[in-house]
Amino acid sequence: MPEFVDLHSHSTASDGTFAPADVVHLAHEAGLVGMALTDHDTVAGLAVAQEEARRRGLVFLNGIEISAVCPVPGGTLHILGYGVDPANEVLQRMTRDLLEARDNRNPQIIARLRELGIDVTWEEALAQAQGGVLGRPHIAALLVRKGVVKTIKQAFDEYLGQGGKAFFDKERLSPQDAIGRIRAAGGVPVVAHPVQLRTTNDAQLQQVIRDLVDLGLGGIEVVHSDHGEADVEKYHRLADRYNLVKTGGSDFHGTNKKDINLGVANGRRIPREWMDELLAATSK
Ligand code: AMP
Ligand code: ZN
Ligand code: FE
Ligand code: FE
Repeated sequence: MPEFVDLHSHSTASDGTFAPADVVHLAHEAGLVGMALTDHDTVAGLAVAQEEARRRGLVFLNGIEISAVCPVPGGTLHILGYGVDPANEVLQRMTRDLLEARDNRNPQIIARLRELGIDVTWEEALAQAQGGVLGRPHIAALLVRKGVVKTIKQAFDEYLGQGGKAFFDKERLSPQDAIGRIRAAGGVPVVAHPVQLRTTNDAQLQQVIRDLVDLGLGGIEVVHSDHGEADVEKYHRLADRYNLVKTGGSDFHGTNKKDINLGVANGRRIPREWMDELLAATSK
């Protein structure tokens, strides 16, 4: 019997809607044999998730997802860090700095929304995040709850996404710093959902990946909910070409991304062997 895992998921520690232990519970119920929790900018959920995974007999891998400056204008570069040590000082300083960058941005978003005549407050945004790292999906969910928009997607399209009426960027790490700090914290850096890089041709994609490899990139997310068949094939080839570990995950966010279930990424599943190879890479 083939066994499957999910290496990309979010909990209430960042912008998912299920608590870390509940994400593990759901993974178990979905029949997965292993998972990684990869919250944005925080390792706060890892200890509880790991304990729950141990109890349920799932293989667990620490993770984090970091936003970096994208070398392609208009694109998005997220770096996953697998096997990071939550107690590492470089990691702790990095997460502190990243939260500070969010604290600089989020009030600007709320202030702009209020200028636009929308009745949202900072307190409501904080409450929506339930103590987790406050991200745009929380503000999007708040806008849905208040009836300002119908869906999270509409909230991003009209207000929160690039080009939206209340879009503010946050200060990001350079790719070099994101990759370097994950390495310094004992982790393997993996480029998340490369389709979001928005490269316009294969030569550009190759150049971007090669540059990241030169900075210490260790893997590429081949399977992801945003990837179609052609994307999966393309990233598979790139992984082989640059000797990168292949990873995959759903990018589960609970009800903040309603169509995405744990263990399934646009109809595809992630073989256990990919997690085994990633585990081997983290212990090198
Ligand atoms: P933040 O980290 O606060 O910038 O928010 C990033 C999160 O917002 C990521 O989890 C994305 O998946 C989500 N996101 C970004 N753009 C969109 C969009 N157009 N629709 C839905 N979610 C989005
Ligand atoms: Zn997210
Ligand atoms: Fe991401
Ligand atoms: Fe993610």
